[in-house]
Amino acid sequence: MVSSISCQYHEAGHAVAGVVIGRDFEFVTVIPIGNTEGHVAYSTADDPEFPRPPQLEAIFFIAGPYAECRRTRRSLPRLWIEQQDASDVAALQLSEADFRKAVSQSMEIIDKNWPAVRRVAAALRRRQKLTFEEVEAMVFSA
Ligand SMILES: [Zn+2]
Repeated sequence: MVSSISCQYHEAGHAVAGVVIGRDFEFVTVIPIGNTEGHVAYSTADDPEFPRPPQLEAIFFIAGPYAECRRTRRSLPRLWIEQQDASDVAALQLSEADFRKAVSQSMEIIDKNWPAVRRVAAALRRRQKLTFEEVEAMVFSA
């Protein structure tokens, strides 16, 4: 089964932002599981005893929907409400100011690394699954 282009860009957005902010993960995939089209599999460092800064988590979550929006030219607020990422960010309980800051930081990371997002999305289309190290190589090969 071939994943949608939206899904490839969405997951590529999360993956590239993860590499840029140093939020490691095991792999990113566009192979559907349950009701999700694709996902990023977290590494063991995600154990509750090792919490990550909520601001960075928010940047990571927002990057997926934003990459998808940037490709389709849909507005982020409109697409945002349809996404699981919106509830993941809500669970972080950021202040309105911190949320806005995370949105702009996330957009900046994706805009600045757009060629890498495109490379990662294309690689996901061909191979369905990439490790953190493989994404990292694509981000830093620019
Ligand atoms: Zn997502």
